[in-house]
This record gives sequence, structure tokens and C-alpha cells, in this order.
Amino acid sequence: MSLRTRAAMAALSTAVLTLSVTACGGGSGTGSGSSLSPSVASSVSFAAGSTMARLSGAKKMTVGTKFDQPGFGLQGLDGKPAGFDVEMAKIIAGKLGIQPDGITFKETPSKVREEVIERGEVDLVIATYTINDKRKARVSFAGPYYVAGQQVMVKKEDSAITGPESLKTNASAKVCSVTGSTPAETIKTYLANPAQLVTFDVYSKCADALRTGQVQAMTTDNVILLGLISKSQGSFKLVGEKFTQEPYGVGIRKGDTSFCEFINTSLKEAADSGAYEKAWTSTAGGVEGAEKAQLPPAGTCS
Ligand code: GLU
Repeated sequence: MSLRTRAAMAALSTAVLTLSVTACGGGSGTGSGSSLSPSVASSVSFAAGSTMARLSGAKKMTVGTKFDQPGFGLQGLDGKPAGFDVEMAKIIAGKLGIQPDGITFKETPSKVREEVIERGEVDLVIATYTINDKRKARVSFAGPYYVAGQQVMVKKEDSAITGPESLKTNASAKVCSVTGSTPAETIKTYLANPAQLVTFDVYSKCADALRTGQVQAMTTDNVILLGLISKSQGSFKLVGEKFTQEPYGVGIRKGDTSFCEFINTSLKEAADSGAYEKAWTSTAGGVEGAEKAQLPPAGTCS
């Protein structure tokens, strides 16, 4: 057998394997996400005056999420977002007796997350939202429900940028991230000059800028980048290791401790029932290179 035939056969068997693994996953992943149907509690009762009582009484809630992040929150042709963050919202809604249809998803770019919570425009934000002290001064967080890590992505053929450190030595290279995100802040310490950082409001614009060569790298959480790679038809790759810890929390109104505790209990129950794992494997966890997810221990509600 010629080398070329052997390579072609190997590629074919990989393709078949990928296909069957995808099929076993059973989820529509980046589709509408409607194949996942988290259970909805039929009889619920909550302390009068609590956020839980208000939401479950209204049978609806508003969730701020991303609309352009494959695997976490990606708007489908039906207008609705699908992904792991969306599934977390459905799990919490279900525990409140709210059907998935009762959730209104509102696109919430990184920069406006605190603001929309403070203004009461959303009941919660589930949007690849890192828990940190600066944000805790304005909002409270339930969770974490996942821990990601910042990484760098470049074009497949790039061999000059091999990780965050090489941005200093390639001082003419530009790196894109998103305004109001933790990666946009962290990457500054790796740059030779501040002009190397280009920011947009959403990650899809960074991916476009990388594709068209306006920037040479893009940085944010590994799992967001993996989602973009899965949609890039082989044009992007990760370089270097993860260099931060990004624990994803559910952002809620500051000081709503009982709602925070309710969300943590809901997440724990979802982990125990397998709903959490199912949500992961059929969304962000279904892409190549994704790690297995395990619900991290809950933080303190304050
Ligand atoms: N997890 C990081 C953050 O909350 C980056 C992802 C994002 O911007 O949503 O800032």
C-alpha cells in the first residue's frame, strides 16, 4: 500500500470515528439544543418574597448570555442560543418549575454583565463569566459550575507565536480580546507595547480579525477558543498552555444569598442526576480537545 493510500485510509477511519463519536453524544450540540430536555419540577414552593418565589410564580425568567460563542451560547437559526451556559440556565429554570420556553435569553457581551444585573434587566447572567473580587463588588456569584483557563489561539500555519510569552518577542504582532473580559486585562502583562492589544465587544469579531489577518492572535478562555476552532474548518489552533484559572459563576443581584444557595443546590442535584454531564458532553464538551467536566465545589454565597 502506498504511503498516500495509507494516509488517506487513516484519515477516513478518523473521520468515521469522529462521526460515530458525535452520533453517540446524541446531542445536537451546536444546533438548537432542544434534544436536551432538563426536568421541570411540577410542584415547587419557596419562601414568600424570595427571588425563587417571584420567578417560579411568574413561570418565566430572563437570562443574560452570549450569542456568538459556540459550545456555550450560540444563536441558532431559530433565534435561540444553544450551549452549555444555556443548558445551565434550563437546569436552574427547571428547579423553579419554569419550562425552557419560559426563559428569555438576552444577548449580554462581557462588558455589560454587571450593569444588566444591577439594573435588573436580567434575573441572572450565565455567560462564561469569571468569578473575581472586582466583579463581586457589584454582583454576587453562585457556582462555580466550570473552571476554564486563558489560552492563545493563532492561525494553523503560524509558527512564530507559540504561546503568550512570544507576544513580547513578536512586538509587531497584534492580539485580539474582548472589552471588559479578564483575558483582555491579563494579556497586557505579556505584551511589548499596549498597542498590540486590539479589543472588540464580542469574540466572533476577534475570530474574523484573525481569519482576515488583521490580528495575528486571539486570547480568551480555552473552551471558548476550542468552540471557535471547531467552527473554523481547520484554520485556527491553540498554542501554549492555559495560564490562568477562570471559574465560571452565575451572576445574580448583589447580596441575594438565598438565590445563590438555591442555584448551588440546583447545580449539585444536576451533577448527581447526570444532567450536568449530559449538558456538557452535548455542548462544549463535545468538541475536539475538550476536557471532561466535573462540577467544582461551590463557593460561599455572599
Ligand atoms: N471568563 C472570562 C471573563 O469572564 C472571559 C470570557 C468572557 O469574556 O466571557 O471575562
